[in-house]
Amino acid sequence: MGVSVDSDGAGDPVPGDGDEGSGHPVVWLFDEYARPHWKQLVGGLTFTTVEQFPARLPPVLIGLAIDAVLLGSGPFRLPLVPRAWLPTAMADQLRLLLALLCGSFAAVALVNFFGRRVLGRFGQSFQHEIRTEVFDTVQRLELDYFDEHDTGEVMSILNDDVQEVQTLVFGVLARGSNMTMTAVATYAYMLWLNWQLAVVLAVVPFVLFGLSYWFSNWIEPRHQAVRERVGDLNSRLNNNVDGVSVIKAFGTESAERDRVRTASRDHREAQWDAHWAGATMDPVSRTVSQLGRVVTIVVGGIWVLTGPPLFFTGTLTPGALFTFYMFVGSLLTSMQGIARVVDGYQNGKAAATRLRDIVANDSVVERSDAADLDDPDGVVTYDDVTFTYPSRDEPTLEGVSFDVDAGDTVGIVGSTGAGKSTVLKLLVRFYDADSGRITVDGRDVRDVTVESLRDSIGYVSQDPFLFYGTVRENVAYAHPDVDDETVVEAAKLAGAHEFVSELPDEYDTQVGERGVKLSGGQRQRIAIARAIARDPAILVFDEATSHVDNETEVLIQRTLDELAADRTTFMVAHRLSTVRDADHIFVVDDGELVERGTHEDLLARDGLYANLWHVQVGDVTALPESFLQRVRRGDTA
Ligand code: ADP
Repeated sequence: MGVSVDSDGAGDPVPGDGDEGSGHPVVWLFDEYARPHWKQLVGGLTFTTVEQFPARLPPVLIGLAIDAVLLGSGPFRLPLVPRAWLPTAMADQLRLLLALLCGSFAAVALVNFFGRRVLGRFGQSFQHEIRTEVFDTVQRLELDYFDEHDTGEVMSILNDDVQEVQTLVFGVLARGSNMTMTAVATYAYMLWLNWQLAVVLAVVPFVLFGLSYWFSNWIEPRHQAVRERVGDLNSRLNNNVDGVSVIKAFGTESAERDRVRTASRDHREAQWDAHWAGATMDPVSRTVSQLGRVVTIVVGGIWVLTGPPLFFTGTLTPGALFTFYMFVGSLLTSMQGIARVVDGYQNGKAAATRLRDIVANDSVVERSDAADLDDPDGVVTYDDVTFTYPSRDEPTLEGVSFDVDAGDTVGIVGSTGAGKSTVLKLLVRFYDADSGRITVDGRDVRDVTVESLRDSIGYVSQDPFLFYGTVRENVAYAHPDVDDETVVEAAKLAGAHEFVSELPDEYDTQVGERGVKLSGGQRQRIAIARAIARDPAILVFDEATSHVDNETEVLIQRTLDELAADRTTFMVAHRLSTVRDADHIFVVDDGELVERGTHEDLLARDGLYANLWHVQVGDVTALPESFLQRVRRGDTA
């Protein structure tokens, strides 16, 4: 259940409509978001890998210089170079070696520069792709998701987990491929140089591999825990900053400080646990690899001085021992890096898992054959609609049925929590009904594109949100091409023009979180103007005038009558006077539609509506005992 929209409604694969549930999260991440930049990725990794060849050259050259040029104890040969090409004079040999040495340094610097550049570009593009695509998915998630996950948690995924992707690129892919290449190239050369010693030393990388594998399994749950604690901490901080006025009003700063302290402490402990585990691996692998060096020096030293020890055969020159020793060093240093690669990989995997989980929530996509709802008249029917919020056990709406003709005005009234807003949330498909059907102009809302459905409906909620931007931008929101006259006209109809004219920059005044502070009523009026400016066939006001004072409400009411004349209007109202003149008034009680009719019909019926009316006009003497008992039980607001 739930709603999300295909970007173009044509059933193109959207991130998240694939096989998020299976497969490896890191593979999924690259498969889903790295494809457009694969050339950079391959290019970057190639540079990083190629860099290893010139980087391995100096020890070989110096080894040669020791043996052939300086000690004159061996023939002057360069690997892969025909002997005829090499100079015979010692000075020329030395010059050639020096030139090759400088050449290899320059080559490393150049290839490294390009590698970093290309891979860096890839890393940024990959991160950008993930951030924008995941954000896009997040904003299309069904509302249930936001009911169950708070802003801090979502922000932590969009910020921290996306950031972690860099580790995957540089700390794992680049370093990993670099390491593998170093290991393979170095070991191949070591085998060529002295296969016997190379075979003996092969034990060390195996031990390091085994250690890393064990370490990887050991550290994974710790990283998972860190990510979870970060989410908790962010949620708490976010909540407290959002609710700072309540905290101040109730003087609960110290209690809140304790709660933040607890969340931060849990985070610290999880972080410490992971850090400590990560730090353990380093000395262990360092010791193992130092042992490798010691074995090389001891065995190699004896070999050079007194001939082959133990079961070894053949000769080992001082130059070859130098090269060998240096290569053992490179091999083991790169092997030591395994721990960090594994650590980075586990970190990245945890982030990828969370990213995949959030995207996997994008479960119900619009039907692939959904068509646009073009310019509907606004006939709305509910046919036996039942709905339960995912987090609830009991249905919130049960068997709600009604028909509304195009252009009718409908008031929806009832006690708080009766289900009035829910009725309207199903119309705009914030949620989908569990059973029954909702149609607009005879078409099931699930068969039309969500975009066209919402485009036909002007929805104003009880506590509307203004984006940071000008009043004009807020009114023209979703239709930035509407002209200034339409904006002003809509603001006049919504009773907003007057106060907007008194703002410092009138329609160009910045509002929203960082802008000029507006009262609840003023925000509501701008939100009403926003809905009107879209000129929708259906208007939905969910307690849209609850913060507006009585005089302004009368003013809005008058213009709304005009506006509502040719469009279907639903108004949830707590103040019954707001809907008094509606064509139909629906009374919702405990998720059911219990009464319907005009104001007069309902008064004459002397049921729940009549009682609520008596309460609001202050005529409490007219209330029956059954209603008063209900109030005492707290069934009504
Ligand atoms: P009304 O508009 O009549 O005050 P609502 O339609 O907002 O009532 O809510 C009806 C019931 O559904 C209430 O009990 C409310 O607590 C519950 N409810 C509303 N929104 C949610 C939600 N997102 N998740 C779970 N329960 C909800």
